[in-house]
Amino acid sequence: MSEPSIFEKSRPGRGSDYLPDSDVPPVSAEQMIPKGSLRQKPPQLPEISEIDLMRHFTRLSQKNYGIDTGFYPLGSCTMKYNPKINEEIAKLTGFARIHPLQPEQQVQGALKLLFELEKALCEISGMAGVSLQPSAGAQGELAGMLIARAHHIASGSRRKKVIIPDSAHGTNPASAALAGFSVQVVRSNSEGTIDLGDLRKVVDRETAALMLTNPNTLGLFEREILAIAQIVHEVGALLYLDGANLNALLGLTRPGDMGFDIVHFNLHKTFSTPHGGGGPGAGPVGVREKLLPYLPEPRVVEKEGRYLWGKSSPNSIGRLHSFYGNFGILVRAFTYIRAHGAQGLSRISRNAILSANYLKKQLGAFYPVAYDRPCMHEFVLTVKKFREKEIHAWDIAKRLIDYGIYPPTVNFPLIVQEALMIETPESESKESLDSFITAMRAIRREIDEDPESVREAPQSGPVGRLDEVQAAKKLDVRYSGPS
Ligand SMILES: *Cc1c(COP(=O)(O)O)cnc(C)c1O
Repeated sequence: MSEPSIFEKSRPGRGSDYLPDSDVPPVSAEQMIPKGSLRQKPPQLPEISEIDLMRHFTRLSQKNYGIDTGFYPLGSCTMKYNPKINEEIAKLTGFARIHPLQPEQQVQGALKLLFELEKALCEISGMAGVSLQPSAGAQGELAGMLIARAHHIASGSRRKKVIIPDSAHGTNPASAALAGFSVQVVRSNSEGTIDLGDLRKVVDRETAALMLTNPNTLGLFEREILAIAQIVHEVGALLYLDGANLNALLGLTRPGDMGFDIVHFNLHKTFSTPHGGGGPGAGPVGVREKLLPYLPEPRVVEKEGRYLWGKSSPNSIGRLHSFYGNFGILVRAFTYIRAHGAQGLSRISRNAILSANYLKKQLGAFYPVAYDRPCMHEFVLTVKKFREKEIHAWDIAKRLIDYGIYPPTVNFPLIVQEALMIETPESESKESLDSFITAMRAIRREIDEDPESVREAPQSGPVGRLDEVQAAKKLDVRYSGPS
């Protein structure tokens, strides 16, 4: 199963240099490169034939689990299929081979795409304007918090506090703190939604914003959202939407209609661009009319059928990204939106909600559901009753790997003990959902009859259980010679 590193496969003198020797007189390195910049020793590069190189990387790629190989019920992450048309369009020369410093008249198509993507996101969210710059949801949050700060300062009040529910994603308090706010937590009630009594207690004239996820991280729609918006707005605070769960809302309702003032989008979740593994994402941030002057700049404007970079506003929070954001990702998201159209987008959310409720009902028969109400696009199981058998949420997650399925999100949101958070994007067929249910049922039986096999999972993966804390804190991906 194990694949040696490319250095271990190296043999002196081996290579793929089957081209005949050049008959052009060679130029020495000293002639081309200043002496001080020359290496003292040649680099230690692996020596390997082309076929062995190809097999090495192909084998490694096959060890990777991806959306193109299997079901991926990773809650909160919206791991949906990435249509290949997105890649085809992003590869077009007119998009892939342009430079951000080219004059506007040479890149009209690219500018028009940015302009129309912004318009589409405004339409979907009910916001007045969007900046496409932030490169992830978390950076969109930071942009949103900086906008809230700039707005309050311009209105003459230095508000210090941001309120965040106890079910929130960890990036929310991190972004608020990074923007200089202190964070106050508001409790969830027994229904899994915000406790309005507690909210009334913590909201005051020091409050800059309430950061909310709707549907929340339990997959539950905040039914009191209009009352929440009123409580927040009454004291002059802003309502921020963490839009990571937008896959449940497309074409059904709009954050702007619910009273949100600032919204971030995770294009790599809702709009299907590839994510995971730390690759490029995009987290545009949208705002209501009164906050437009604070958006990051520049943004594209249209003037008599031409597309130009707009003038800067003295109140803008500035740039969050070099040039204009992760352009290739923006092309993919735009393609996805246009390929589906308005009706297609609302079908996405309807199907995601239907599939999640089907899974919740089926799995709920043998694993307890944390808050058993009709859910939106995801839901949370709690497996704390198996602690007496020394089985934890992560054991079930790891065992799923042996059944060929990617694990759900575990131990999040923090208000649910031994949480398994399950999301099923609309792109999955009923047959995929049923094979997931079958695997989860088999694991449920193993918990009773053979708990050891669950505790020791995974047995079929290329590696067993990793020390995840060490892996994150002492990441070492550099080969430093034979040990
Ligand atoms: C994914 C996610 C984020 C952060 O988004 P990134 O794009 O990963 O930075 C924030 N909140 C929620 C609820 C999320 O699911």
